[in-house]
Parts: sequence; structure tokens; C-alpha cells
Amino acid sequence: MNESERILELRKLLKQYAYEYYTLDMPTIPDSEYDILFRELEELEKKHPELDDPNSVTKRVGFEILSEFKKITHERPMLSLGDVFSYDELREWSKKITDVYGEVEYCAEYKIDGLAMSLIYEDGLFKQAVTRGDGITGEDVTSNVRTIQSIPMAIPYKQRYDIRGEVYMPKASFNRVNRERRANGEEEFANPRNAAAGSIRQLDSRICASRGLDGFWYHVPDDVNSDTHYGSLQYARKLGFVVNETTSLYKNIEDVISFIDETVKIRHDLPYEIDGMVVKVNSYDLQRKIGFTSRIPKWAIAYKFPAEEVRTKVEDIFITVGRTGKCTPNAKLTPVKVAGTTVGFATLHNEDNIRDKDIRIGDTVIVRKAGDIIPEVVRSIKENRDGSQVSFVFPDRCPVCGGKLYRFEDEAAHYCVNSECKARLVYSIAHFTERNAMNIDGLGEKRVEAFLNNGLLTSFEDIYKLHNRRDDILEMEKFGSKSYDNLIEAIENSKANSLERLINGLGIRQVGEKAAKILAAHFKDMDSFMNASLEELSEIKDIGPITAEYIRDFFNEPSNMEMISQLKMLGVNMNYIDTTVSSDSVFAGKTVVLTGTLERYSRSDATKLLEDLGAHVASSVSKKTDFVIYGTEAGSKLDKANELGVTTLSEDEFESML
Ligand code: NAD
Repeated sequence: MNESERILELRKLLKQYAYEYYTLDMPTIPDSEYDILFRELEELEKKHPELDDPNSVTKRVGFEILSEFKKITHERPMLSLGDVFSYDELREWSKKITDVYGEVEYCAEYKIDGLAMSLIYEDGLFKQAVTRGDGITGEDVTSNVRTIQSIPMAIPYKQRYDIRGEVYMPKASFNRVNRERRANGEEEFANPRNAAAGSIRQLDSRICASRGLDGFWYHVPDDVNSDTHYGSLQYARKLGFVVNETTSLYKNIEDVISFIDETVKIRHDLPYEIDGMVVKVNSYDLQRKIGFTSRIPKWAIAYKFPAEEVRTKVEDIFITVGRTGKCTPNAKLTPVKVAGTTVGFATLHNEDNIRDKDIRIGDTVIVRKAGDIIPEVVRSIKENRDGSQVSFVFPDRCPVCGGKLYRFEDEAAHYCVNSECKARLVYSIAHFTERNAMNIDGLGEKRVEAFLNNGLLTSFEDIYKLHNRRDDILEMEKFGSKSYDNLIEAIENSKANSLERLINGLGIRQVGEKAAKILAAHFKDMDSFMNASLEELSEIKDIGPITAEYIRDFFNEPSNMEMISQLKMLGVNMNYIDTTVSSDSVFAGKTVVLTGTLERYSRSDATKLLEDLGAHVASSVSKKTDFVIYGTEAGSKLDKANELGVTTLSEDEFESML
């Protein structure tokens, strides 16, 4: 295929994708793939100006409107944004401007993943809401936008006022709406952006109202009451519009990049999706000088985050067995790069998920990897099926030991209940030795499996007998006397651990690190814990009746009691060692809430430090909160603390009190 044929092919392909995305709100390929094809077409069109076509997607904003809503022509066009995918490209964009205009002030903001909307006010009253549409003409969705609670219906400004921004669906609403759609057998929305667009196009406003939409306002096309973009947003805020609190000014592009870096770290904690950052020249005057193309303003640019959703193929589906016997189906994928790493496997969660999403072996699927989450298969692309795809039948036998699998009432997962199952044994011993449990360095999952295969380990107790198996261990591949000595030393040291580590290591259902700590601090020794009644356990704050039952079930099993007494005989400490220095710390016994990003402590380090000082670290602010420690980007929790008169501490103040 030569370049002119490729141009035609790309135009056709992108037109179809744009139609599915903008008109139907049901994209069939991930945005990242669309962006790559779009760039390819842009480059080719630049090379071949003779093949220019004003109808090409590269010249257009959005797509034609087919909806039943009244069409409204925007007084000023609503444009798209040019985009860059790396800091170098961002620097290049900035250089083009500074080369001509010298140092420029930028306003940088989150790129909210929703749909663009223009709100029109006349005589201080909300008059009309119009979608971006094809940039020139949009749809009149006034009655639907009226249902968004945070949009003011009246403003203290009497002239015509046009403000633009993004209507979006918060993550919580998106999850709820998709849960409901799943339950009703309806197709789930691919992402919050499509969900928001689909909701705004509902003919019945009650449906839109039920979707929990919200809005951020980020652009005032006319310089009302300010000669800068940022100033006009401050004014908009005064008028009652929600302007994102992180929107801020920067003296140069390197400072903007630092802000982007910071945002990348916290973006997954935000209650709404952002797919990048937008950088704008702040001065209206300069904006006018720099100008527009038919599709984008040249004074603004979108920096897009690396793709978190990509397309690949499910080569196989297989089951893994965890330490509790839980059987998880996984997809073996054709390896693909997503969010900067290569992914070859993704979780399919459970049988219902595979069935509801109809994911088959051989399917083309969208895989998502966001932040620290395990890669997951989001959906299959049914249009790509050619008949060779095979539905997955969940096995009724454990793939490791052949034991029967059970699915308990109210549980989505299948379990292998054979306590001798090798898979369960490997994971449960590896969990016992983990850093947060007994902390035995040199006895991770791989080595546990090797020891198990060599008959050296079949239980927790065997760990403390390994010093008798020196010759057998040294015979094993890749095991020198130095690693043996280190291992035995780590095992020996672990005997002195405080009780909570042992409790965590036992792998009782729902008793993780936090619950183990509460239980150890409460009971002080293993005997009291083991013999505690169901009532006694249930009454402990933060434990709850279900966990209490799991604990009782565990100790009602004679083999578990025997295991504990063996560990005791082998010298494992069974008492709680109180390391808190609570008595003289101002934080002892206090309830503390952390908010925003601290510079010198990760969230978990700060929590641990406070807990060691005897504080209770809570997640929300109430009248009972004693202190709120805040970092940068602190949001509503800090506001609430101020409202309630709770003492707030900056990071420096916190440190000075330590
Ligand atoms: P865009 O989403 O890349 O950027 C422009 C839009 O960003 C604006 O119109 C506005 O709605 C939004 N925005 C959010 N926060 C903003 C802020 N603070 N300031 C200014 N604008 C802000 O552009 P687009 O034209 O809406 O869509 C193009 C993108 O849509 C493509 O890059 C692609 O990722 C996606 N797309 C995907 C498919 C598909 O098939 N998957 C098809 C078509 C388009």
C-alpha cells in the first residue's frame, strides 16, 4: 500500500472510530490506538498537502450530530486540543511560543475525562447548555444539565455569560451505574467519559439525574472581568462555578512538568478520571496573538498520560490457587505494553465476571493496568470474533491437587478446600514468612515451593526444624552455605517477633496486618486469643462478627491448635511486645486524619509512625478528630476540619511535635 492509499484507509478507519466514539458513545478501540492512527494520518497529510481533504478527521472537531436534541450554533466555536505524549514534545510546544514571545506565564490544569459543555447565562439566569458537537454546532441538552446539582441556576452577573467546562461522571457514580447495568443485562459503559456522554444524551432527564454527573468549569471565552485566563476562572468561582482547586499558574514549562509529575503520583486517588493535563498561555492578549487552527487553539496543549487501556488477545485462561484455596481465573495474553510495562497476564476475577463479560479464549480484549492494581481484562471486543473463540468452562476440580472445588453461598469465588493441596501450602507458608508477617528473609514463594518439592517443608513448624536439614538443603541447586547460614539466622530471629506478626502469618481469613495488630494488642498473648469466645472477639472495635467467626473456625480446628503448640515448643514467641511510646507523645490516644501529599512521608509511613505513637489514624474528619495533618493538594478534608474547628497541622508543625 502506498502512502496515498494509506491516507485514504486511515481516514475511513478513523471516521468509523470517531462515529462510534462521539455519536454512539461506544468506542471499539482504546483511545491510545486511536491517537496513534490519528498521528500517523497527521504526519502523512503533512507530507502530502496535495491530498488535502477538509473533511478529514484531522481537520474536524468531534463528529456530526445525529441526536434528537435541538441543534444550536455556538457563538464562538468550541475547539479540541492539540496533544503531546512526552515532556520533550511539551517543551517543544512551549519553545515555539517562547521563541517568539519570550517568557510566558502558563496555567496548568487537570484534563478532566468527560465531555465538553458550554453554559449560557442571560440576565443572571441559566439559559442553555450546549454540547461541543462538531465544534460549530452542538446539541441543546439544557434540561439534562439542569439536573447537575453543582451548576448554579442564577449568578450575580447580568450580561450574557458563556462558560465552558467538562461534564464528567465521578468514579463512584460510574461504578454504581455499571453495576446496575450489569444487573439489568445491559451493556456496560466502556469508561466514565462515554458514560457521561451517554447520560447527557438521555431524552428523559430523570435518567440523566440518576447518573450522578458533575462538572468542572475551565474556560471563559470572553475576557470577563480579567485579562487573564486564570483571573477569569477566579471570577467564575466567585460567581458560583466549580473550578478545579489544583488549577494553578507557572512561570515556565519546567515548573509545569514538576506539577505533572506530582499529579501522576496521585491521579488514581482522585474521585474522578483525568487523562492528562492541559497547559494554557495565561494572558488573553497573548492567546489572541498566538491564535487557532480550524481544530485547536495554538495557545493550549494537552499532555496525555501513558495509555492504561490497550488491546490484545486472550491466548488461554487458567486457574491459580491462593493460600486460602481461592481459585482465580487468569487470562494469558499476547504480551502488550500498557502504562509503561509489558503485561502478559491479567486477572479475570471469577466465574461470574467471565460469564457476564462473555470473555472467551481467542477473544480480542481491552486490558487495563492503572496504578498499582493488577492488570485486568475490562471487556472483549465481540466484533472481532471469527468463530474460533472458545467459551471457558470453570473446572470443578482443583488444577493443582485434583480436589473438588466449592463455591459457597454469597461468594463469587471457587475454593479448593483440601488443606493438603500443594498450592495452598506453598502460598500459606510463603505468607507466613512474608515481610509483614514473620519476616523470614530468604524463604519466598519460589524457595518454599522448592523446599516442598524436596520434602523439607510441609507446615509452618517445619520452618523451625530446617536447621536439622543442613545437608539436604546444601544439596539443593543454587544453595550455598552462606545462604543457608543467612536463612537459619533469619528463622532464628523470627522467633522473637511480637505476637501480631505470628497472627498475621497464620493466614486466618480476613485477618491481615491491621486486624492482627488490633488482636495482639487486645489479647497480649496467644492463649487468650486462641481461647476467646465469639462474643468477646465480635466486641473488639474494628473486628466485626464475620472476622470473629473466621477466627473461631480456625481455632476450632484441632490441627491448628496443635500447630500453635508445636510452634510454642520450638521457641516461637507467643506474646505481644508493646513498642509504642504512647505515654509521652501528644498523639497518644488521639484520632488523626491525614490529607494531601506529605513531602517527607508516604501515606503508609506517616500512618505507621502515628500508630506507633499510639494514635488512631482515621480516614474521615468528624467532630471526634483531634488533628488533621495536611500536605499539598489537601482538599475537602482540610476544609471540613476548618469548618469543625479541628486542629490542623502542616507537615512542619507535625514534625516539630514528634
Ligand atoms: P481531547 O479529549 O483529546 O481534548 C480536548 C478536550 O479536552 C476538550 O474538548 C475538553 O472537552 C477536554 N478538557 C478536559 N479538561 C480540560 C481543561 N482543563 N481545559 C480544556 N479542555 C479540557 O479531544 P477530543 O477532540 O475531545 O477527543 C479526541 C480524543 O478522543 C482522542 O485523542 C482520542 O483519545 C479520543 N477518541 C477515541 C476514539 C476511539 O475510538 N477510542 C475515537 C475518537 C476520539
